[in-house]
Amino acid sequence: MSFSHLGLSEKVLSAVAATGYTTPTPIQEQAIPHVLARRDVLGIAQTGTGKTAAFVLPMITMLEQGRARARMPRTLILEPTRELAAQVQEAFIKYGAKHKLTVALIIGGVSFDDQDAKLTRGVDVLIATPGRLLDHQERGRLLMTGVELLVIDEADRMLDMGFIPDIERICKLVPFTRQTLFFTATMPPEIQRITEQFLHNPVRVEVSKPATTVDAIAQSLVKTGRDPAEKRETLRALIRAAEGLTNAIIFCNRKREVATLHHSLVRHGFSAIALHGDMDQSARTAALEQFRRGEVKLLVASDVAARGLDIPAVSHIFNFDVPHHPDDYVHRIGRTGRAGRSGTAITLVAPIDTKAVAAIEKLTGQTIAWAGEPVAAASPEERWPRERSASRPPRGQASGSSSSRRHASPAPERQASPVPQPQSAPAPQRVGPPAKVARFGEAQPRRPARHPEADDGDSSHLPAFLLRPVTVKA
Ligand code: AMP
Repeated sequence: MSFSHLGLSEKVLSAVAATGYTTPTPIQEQAIPHVLARRDVLGIAQTGTGKTAAFVLPMITMLEQGRARARMPRTLILEPTRELAAQVQEAFIKYGAKHKLTVALIIGGVSFDDQDAKLTRGVDVLIATPGRLLDHQERGRLLMTGVELLVIDEADRMLDMGFIPDIERICKLVPFTRQTLFFTATMPPEIQRITEQFLHNPVRVEVSKPATTVDAIAQSLVKTGRDPAEKRETLRALIRAAEGLTNAIIFCNRKREVATLHHSLVRHGFSAIALHGDMDQSARTAALEQFRRGEVKLLVASDVAARGLDIPAVSHIFNFDVPHHPDDYVHRIGRTGRAGRSGTAITLVAPIDTKAVAAIEKLTGQTIAWAGEPVAAASPEERWPRERSASRPPRGQASGSSSSRRHASPAPERQASPVPQPQSAPAPQRVGPPAKVARFGEAQPRRPARHPEADDGDSSHLPAFLLRPVTVKA
């Protein structure tokens, strides 16, 4: 199958040819003809499958007819993060090179006035994060009654970040008769409900990530202590020992940890840069560009900031923290092994993390190999330090987690030097592709109302410190 059979316009086909792509990916092949036939589409696909072009190419073709009116965008694309929104804008620039489309980016962290001026002139394509879009709408600067096509991208991520109420509001502000394209990597019940409510007789298109991509990722676990300084020491040893490391993304669970680790790495002479939701937009864009161009080797990032970013050649992923949600693990390691390259993903595991690792292994249906000695599960005292109770089992006998079952003799919970010896550590094992993140309709754990890293940039709504977890004393 070639692009010319999909019904795209000549101008779009020549822009695709200029990029060098000759064959549509499965999501493009299956979705584009339906989009052009004005059907609603429910696309179940992760980033890395070519899903952006699956909606951008037919949109450009359709927008060749008609023109935009002031304050009334013709099409609207919702993205969970500013970086993803910017990436979609780049796709319009790349594939719309022969068109005179007006594309506006409405994201937090940049001036309202510039965005307002652009809306006033009229836009064909509005790419937005939900919070900032609603801000413009509430100020009366934007009318959504002219939207002919709505794209909701990365819907499950929107759920994680607490954006679903915003999405529901936006869906009610656009005309009932619009066409809707809805993309999600997973189908938790809440997302299922939204699709039933807002899609009209959709065509369902489901693709898995190309197997070769994840097949090519060597995954391993490395034992570390819980203390951050100890973890940083372990990480430095791993970076120094990593074979074939050209560049790496290091994931932390919290923005504060990103900043601390970044400073520490720089202090130790590493070439590193940070990417997290508290940085202003220009700093984030600059950081990403420096990393893309290879000017810095290490990108220390939080999940939200790095989600879905297309950085083609990353040799290593380090999970400084084991992610709280197992699907974040799949997304993190998916940053490497892209476009046919091989990659390495190494996860630091403290005793407290064994449950989270077991959840990842359950989700992916795979056991991740330990490089060196495995960690023992945390004792109940370590997990609930203020709730010591005689009813809890003694240290070392506590857990039913898979890792403690595998390693009968418990290792000491705190070790003086957890830094693995690279020479003695076995090479990370190649493992098969992670299983699909969740099966259709499968129950998912309830999410927090708003992700602590939520960063659609509307800091005017809620200061970042209010999003931090707090401990309430009895
Ligand atoms: P996405 O899933 O949209 O993030 O796309 C992942 C990567 O695949 C991006 O770098 C795209 O430029 C690239 N890509 C999109 N379509 C194709 C295609 N038909 N052939 C090869 N690469 C593609």
